[in-house]
Amino acid sequence: MILLRLSVIPQLGYLARVVPPSLLAPHALRFDDMVLDVVQRKFLLPNPLPDVAKFFLSLPIKVGGFGLRKARDVSCPAYFCAVSAAAEGIPELLPVERRRALLFDEKTRAPFAAEVDLCLHQLIDAGVLTGLDGPIPDSFVDFWRPGGGVLALPRRQHEISTYIAAAEFRRWLHDAATAKEKQRVASASAAKASLWLTSFPTTPELIMADDDFVIGVKHRLGVPLMDDLPPKCFCGAALMDDPQHFLSCSMLKRRAMTVRHDSVVRLLRDFFHHAGALVHIEPRIYETKRFRPDLDILLADTNIMIDVGITNPCAPSRTSTTALAAATTMEKAKVVEYKKFAEERGAKFFPFIIETLGAYGKETAKVLKVLAKAVFNSNIDSPSDYLVQCNRVVAVAVQRGNALVARQGAVLSRAAAARSAYAEW
Ligand SMILES: [Zn+2]
Repeated sequence: MILLRLSVIPQLGYLARVVPPSLLAPHALRFDDMVLDVVQRKFLLPNPLPDVAKFFLSLPIKVGGFGLRKARDVSCPAYFCAVSAAAEGIPELLPVERRRALLFDEKTRAPFAAEVDLCLHQLIDAGVLTGLDGPIPDSFVDFWRPGGGVLALPRRQHEISTYIAAAEFRRWLHDAATAKEKQRVASASAAKASLWLTSFPTTPELIMADDDFVIGVKHRLGVPLMDDLPPKCFCGAALMDDPQHFLSCSMLKRRAMTVRHDSVVRLLRDFFHHAGALVHIEPRIYETKRFRPDLDILLADTNIMIDVGITNPCAPSRTSTTALAAATTMEKAKVVEYKKFAEERGAKFFPFIIETLGAYGKETAKVLKVLAKAVFNSNIDSPSDYLVQCNRVVAVAVQRGNALVARQGAVLSRAAAARSAYAEW
């Protein structure tokens, strides 16, 4: 995915800037189809892929997409901006007496001038702000004036593309998105939700196995996590009703979900331990209720207790479409459960909640602040880089954990289906 986004998609960037959109259109379309074909095969996505999933692949990462911008969408802003960069010099290359005919007269103007006019109209129709308020001029005449009829923008093409994508996204969210899609978008576009998707696999902790990454991509896209599943989960729930059911299956809580939870607990222990804190992990005794939070951490100037939770914002039981609603609900529950216990022991309590799509709950910022202070007071090299790495490692661990949950759900469900088939036979 990283290679596609950062190496393959930009391949057409230069061509998009120098080839008129009308000429590039059929090739851009073909290029987009090839990219989609690669994504579908590499990430084992359903074929045909639902339109909403295709839309999400092309959306910017910060709004919950995958950043695989379509070449046909880039073509018009790219060509427009390339010509505008040379607009002040172009009229000087034309004979004075023919400038008007070559640039403005619709019957005699040069093809590139006609293309720029067409691009400008397309961008205005797409709702891009014009004049001194935006990145494009009010009119085609202004385009050729000194300064191009706009304020100088450092990343003009990026500004225009981002504006168009954001407008398209807002239209979809307002007119077409279902409640479940709104929940998914709200979570996938929240702070730190995309860290796993943008982390380079440079250290063992940041490497995701292909199968794990595929499940992460499917979860973010909202398509079934796996193929060849029986109609029912081993818990009895119909998988047709919720194609991502395993991530909220109550029967997996004491199994793979606990492993996923514990992996994040161990990471927090390591981070604080490296920063010089004394860390105690509350031992897990199965089939018993716990009264203490997951982590008891003694720092130089404070004592904190942390309880970790991972929650699926798109579970059928969730009804709110507000960002971080699932994390906030869990945070409140943890506070009720552990705050008094911690305060009675002179400690501050913090819930550390992450949503399965990667979003951090609001309270995690407090834990990260305490960690940052400890890291900056320790002898860790490049503390800022270390903290970024900590966030990325946690993000990847959650996605690995999701994949584990999905795989265990699939194995147990297939086994249950096989047992009932034998019983009927
Ligand atoms: Zn289930």
